Amino acid sequence: MLNNTYPFQLPPLIYSYEALEPYIDAETMHYHHDKHFQTYIDNLNKALEPYPQLQNMTLVQLLKNGCEDLPEKDCTTIMNNAGGVYNHSLFFEMLQPAQAGNHMPDPIVSEAINEAFGSFDNFKAEFEKSALSVFGSGWTYLVIDRQGKASIVNLKNQDTLVTQNLKPIILFDVWEHAYYLKYKNRRVDYVKNLWNVIRFAKSE
Ligand code: MN
Repeated sequence: MLNNTYPFQLPPLIYSYEALEPYIDAETMHYHHDKHFQTYIDNLNKALEPYPQLQNMTLVQLLKNGCEDLPEKDCTTIMNNAGGVYNHSLFFEMLQPAQAGNHMPDPIVSEAINEAFGSFDNFKAEFEKSALSVFGSGWTYLVIDRQGKASIVNLKNQDTLVTQNLKPIILFDVWEHAYYLKYKNRRVDYVKNLWNVIRFAKSE
């Protein structure tokens, strides 16, 4: 998806809609993937339609290069929706069924986590605190920089980190649409349960 170009298409889930039960319910997955994610894709395609000069650009190129020469409103629509497509394609890829068993980072990422946060448990506590502190809608990322240093970053709405040379290791979607059907207002329970179905990206 990240290297795809216009017209963008919804990538299929790589597991079933029920696969993340009971932590993320099938109904939420249907809405989140087939409706919300699809809407970002549809709106991005619609916004790019009048601008053939942007239609050969990959999703990452769009986000990196921006579109300042366009009318501000059109550029904002493109960047918001491109960000939504980017964040969601990473998010659904970085989930896996609880039964898959391996929900820990690889040794290099583990070492970076221990160096930055003291222990894996401390990291989880810091990450949860950060995810709960996102005001309104947004994302919490664990990233590794070019020197191998791990850090936690909160992003608002559909902002991304593509211009910053940071490798995403995990990301939690803390928009209400990601959890409200099952968890209602209890973001804390959703965040704690996500650890059961997360898949850490490899360090390489
Ligand atoms: Mn979402």
